[in-house]
Amino acid sequence: MKSYLREQHRSLPAYVPGTHDESDGVLRLNTNESPYRPSVEVLEAVAREIPRLNYYNDPDCTELRAAISRKEGVELDNVLAGNGSDQVLQLAFLAFAGPDCPIYLPDITYSYYDLFAALYQIPLHRIPLREDFTLCPADYSNAGGMIVFPNPNAPTGLALTRAEVAGILEANPDHVVLVDEAYVDFGGETVVPLIETYPNLLVVRTFSKSGSLAGLRLGYGIGCKQLIADLAKVRNAVDLYGVNRMAQASGVAICENWKYYEDNCRRIMDTRDLTAYALCEMGFTVLPSRGNFLFARPAGISAADLQGKLAERDIFVRHFSGPRTEDWLRITIGTAEDMAIFVDACKDILGAE
Ligand code: PMP
Repeated sequence: MKSYLREQHRSLPAYVPGTHDESDGVLRLNTNESPYRPSVEVLEAVAREIPRLNYYNDPDCTELRAAISRKEGVELDNVLAGNGSDQVLQLAFLAFAGPDCPIYLPDITYSYYDLFAALYQIPLHRIPLREDFTLCPADYSNAGGMIVFPNPNAPTGLALTRAEVAGILEANPDHVVLVDEAYVDFGGETVVPLIETYPNLLVVRTFSKSGSLAGLRLGYGIGCKQLIADLAKVRNAVDLYGVNRMAQASGVAICENWKYYEDNCRRIMDTRDLTAYALCEMGFTVLPSRGNFLFARPAGISAADLQGKLAERDIFVRHFSGPRTEDWLRITIGTAEDMAIFVDACKDILGAE
């Protein structure tokens, strides 16, 4: 059949998400979701919005942005909301990079960045992480384009300190530095307090992980007022009503009941550290993660084989092919019970090898 797709889009790479299976008994340790359900206040907020779905949502997301600004200690005009943080990332690529303004990013990182860059024909410069997967801030001095990295990084879980990020901002005053803080609530150090000092800083956050809201799609950006106004200009041209009523109301409820979510984050961090210990005991190499996942290299079995054998038991974890990542698995942290099942399955599989 004839394809009408423009030539430039024909070679767009495909994003490969983790296997989606919500059947009973399946352990979903492959998409970095929260194992904890939304708070009661979120369920009530969603229910309240349902009878009002005939009305458009507030395109400015004013109440939501006010709630986020109170939670983060910034002003309303420092915040822009988006349909998942993926949308905020995409808008930032569109607004601040382009065919003549490349993006500098780590060689091992969140793979959706590749797609946005391909879509907007933005050249990518991949800067290799060190051998131990840490990011070397000096490699980003005077980069000559927009800089993008998650902090903590994905899938490694390794994080830079605020001072290290400040060094990168200092060394790149002419370009936007996008710090993707999707996983910051699991032990990272946020750089939000730097937005007034560095007008080139854009912090991107999501409610999908620590906010237990992956299925409703809500993310946000924080930056100085000019940066946010510029981003809003692009957003309003692309997707004015992008953040639906239920997502806006849920975001307000999450901000106002943050303690519930903070407690869940603490639980996830404790479970993560216990799981890391159990894996080390089995001979795995485990990076010190500050995310809601572990990046671990099994011993005595290849990562791909272990992933396959776990999948046969309905336990899904993530494996990334590629020369530097193929020996490793990314394992999302579920509840303590989930992780006990996972660890027992690993012991069983390794014992049988
Ligand atoms: N950034 C990173 C580093 C991620 O891992 C993810 C989720 N896979 C996202 C952003 C996107 O999250 P969401 O669109 O659900 O907010």
